[in-house]
Amino acid sequence: MLKGLSSKLKIDDNILSTIGNTPMVRLNKVPSKHGVKCEILGKCEYQNPSGSLKDRISLRMIENAEKRGELKPGYVCIVPTSGNTGISMALTASIKGYKCIIVMSEKMSKEKERVIKSLGSEIVRTPVSGGSHGLNGIFPTIERLKKIHPNNVVINQYTDLGNPEAHYDVTAEEILEQCSGKLDMLVIGAGTGGALTGIAKRLKESLPNIKIVGVDPEGSMLAQPETLNKSGFFEVEGIGHDFIPKVLDRSLVDFWIKSVDKDALNMCRELIKEEGLLCGMSSGAVMCAALKAAKNLNENQRVVAFFGDSIRNYMTKFMVDNWMIARDYIPCPNTKNLWWWDK
Ligand code: PMP
Repeated sequence: MLKGLSSKLKIDDNILSTIGNTPMVRLNKVPSKHGVKCEILGKCEYQNPSGSLKDRISLRMIENAEKRGELKPGYVCIVPTSGNTGISMALTASIKGYKCIIVMSEKMSKEKERVIKSLGSEIVRTPVSGGSHGLNGIFPTIERLKKIHPNNVVINQYTDLGNPEAHYDVTAEEILEQCSGKLDMLVIGAGTGGALTGIAKRLKESLPNIKIVGVDPEGSMLAQPETLNKSGFFEVEGIGHDFIPKVLDRSLVDFWIKSVDKDALNMCRELIKEEGLLCGMSSGAVMCAALKAAKNLNENQRVVAFFGDSIRNYMTKFMVDNWMIARDYIPCPNTKNLWWWDK
């Protein structure tokens, strides 16, 4: 049934005032298909205006920099990102009249680059090899850019406390209200760790028994105990890192689950097909972890899974059968059917 007209319908002054208040949606097929009895809800952060959770923190970090007097008209924001903060910063900056230079690894999708460019920001790509702090990695590249552009401010989501604070103040409050305070477990990935830290801290204040499950891809180094981690390449974008970001408070996590690319990306396809949730890579990783973590929960318990971005960022990746086949994530079809392969 369509929603009735609401007294809350209104005109927004600009796109930034539509950030937040994202839907919390019950998953009706996937949990039972995987033998899970409890309720699993998806917090659909991909329904933010730029398509991810990062709109919340971009606005907060820009407005804090303005208040501190560091960001002035005509200045350039230099932004390290795995893509979504780049998109959100480009959008926020364009509305507020600033320019951005987005610094992002070659690993991240072409789709993200195209959105950033269309929002009027510049992009600098850095090589995957050598890591984030290697000679040509994201952070040394930013140091070089700072010298080239005199009127700049680095908006660094990995160290900026505005990142976890935006999630503590707003995202966590939304979750508490949407669940009417009834919530047993939160399953959430960590990139900067800002969302995990801000939301977990606030939820634990109201719900001391809640379990916080951190999701970290195989190949990333964020999980604890350290014996879970083995450094290497992983396909999932947005979560996982080769260093521990300052804004990530790992003491808030009750336990970590490592995600496997093949399972995560097949799960994205399942969430899209079965539940109609047009989510992105990290959502699949989070959902796989939620199914594992919820295995022993009962019908009366409730889990929230955090869905960070959307299918739009990956139209040439997990959506494409050939891309999945090339990585052995789905079986290769019979060669006699090759003519209809999705190219
Ligand atoms: N999912 C996606 C798709 C993301 O882009 C990010 C941020 N990189 C996250 C999850 C994790 O968010 P955070 O940086 O707050 O840990």
